Amino acid sequence: MPSAILALIEVPGIGPKTAWKLYESLGVEDEASLLAAARAHRIRSLPGFGEKTEANIIKAIENMKMTEGRRPLYSVMPIADKIAVVLSEIDGAERVGIGGSLRRRRDTIGDIDLIVSTRIPDRILEAFSSMDVFSHITAKGSTKAEAVTDDGIKCELRAVAPESYWTGLHHITGSKAHHVKLRGIAGRHGLKISEYGISRDDTGEMIHVDSEEKLYAILGMEYIPPELREDRGEIEAAIGGTLPRLIDVDTIRGDIHMHTDWSDGLASIEEMAEAARNMGYEYIAITDHSRSLGVAHGLSEERLREHIDAVRRADAKIDGIRILSGAEVDILKEGRLDYPDELLARLDVVIASIHSGFQQDRDTITSRIIQAMRNPNVDILAHPTGRLLGRRPGYAVDMEAVVREAADTGTALEINSYPDRLDLRDEHARMARESGVMIAINTDAHSPDELENIKYGVWVGRRAWLEPHNVVNAMDYEELVLWLDSHKRHRSQT
Ligand SMILES: [Zn+2]
Ligand SMILES: [Zn+2]
Repeated sequence: MPSAILALIEVPGIGPKTAWKLYESLGVEDEASLLAAARAHRIRSLPGFGEKTEANIIKAIENMKMTEGRRPLYSVMPIADKIAVVLSEIDGAERVGIGGSLRRRRDTIGDIDLIVSTRIPDRILEAFSSMDVFSHITAKGSTKAEAVTDDGIKCELRAVAPESYWTGLHHITGSKAHHVKLRGIAGRHGLKISEYGISRDDTGEMIHVDSEEKLYAILGMEYIPPELREDRGEIEAAIGGTLPRLIDVDTIRGDIHMHTDWSDGLASIEEMAEAARNMGYEYIAITDHSRSLGVAHGLSEERLREHIDAVRRADAKIDGIRILSGAEVDILKEGRLDYPDELLARLDVVIASIHSGFQQDRDTITSRIIQAMRNPNVDILAHPTGRLLGRRPGYAVDMEAVVREAADTGTALEINSYPDRLDLRDEHARMARESGVMIAINTDAHSPDELENIKYGVWVGRRAWLEPHNVVNAMDYEELVLWLDSHKRHRSQT
């Protein structure tokens, strides 16, 4: 296959057949020449193509540039899971694991890394290569095969003997930086780690482990969860026995950012509450949009007053969960908020966020946010950079200044679990944690189904080293009410 075809099928939505047509009729041979052809409207005139295809190609390439060929985790995970399930059903496949940045729960994924333990690698690799999710196979050897899905996602499978499974899984999980440091430490113990096992330098003996915990134990350290394997201090902490006790989905006791059919959500207050109760939550906050956000049917002052009453009624009516009244208030020009203070003061939870003026310069946006955080009614700053993965980078904002202000004012910062936001991202959330800032992990759900997105936010939180005491909505209801109350009082005194 010419290298041009391989380059073109990297663009999401372009399969081998389309790539050939574009290559033969227009002479395009990579993303850059394809983008140029699309922008010059040379694609729409080809038979079988149209303006829409042309526009889609432009969009796809622009997205790729934004994420450097990486895709949001949520869009890759179901494909990887499906491949893993099909693999595990093949006769002779013993254990199947997914590694790579997917296992480390990075917010974007480059390619899919899989491992299978088996005594008959040939047959497994053959079956893998003929799966119908793949548009073509790019490599196939005796222990490894590589293929590309219809969507253009690269997928690599390694086959190892059963006794090498755990070191193999560890190997494909990465990250590179984590492994480099780990190999250095192994060397000092006279050991070498590879995908096949751990070998002793002196005797050459190969040690096999039946878990990753044992692998780390042999190196004299605590087990390091995959989300932490980035060489950001986790190895030192594991040796010293000071790794964080990470949050998990079970840590979350409620969700305090969601929308209903009062603004742009799809369900009623009661339906959201019942869905949350079924997930085992103790509380939720209903935070519909404020008046300036016309596209989302933001509530007028009068509607918000009615909304507060409706939430109080629902709270009284529905057993087994507490429903807090709230609002997601737009941060307007100069950091003014979209409702008067006396109205904000009546709410249990006030979330402030930016939905306009994304093009403003860094200083303007930063001071807008800081002004908003200084309002004693504001509890949480939502989706603090406004990014949309693969579609829009965040606005320019001085995150260090925002974190400092959050620490000063006792404002919590949000990790938004909406799968294409995941903002704060991991490094920023960790910076916040280290400055003593509380984090809220919310779904921003617009329907009951979307409450399930919480896992994405929790994974970001794990990558940020968050422990339960760093997370607002890991508190029980009484603690939460105290927190909402106390930090407001703190701010009105200062
Ligand atoms: Zn929002
Ligand atoms: Zn929202």
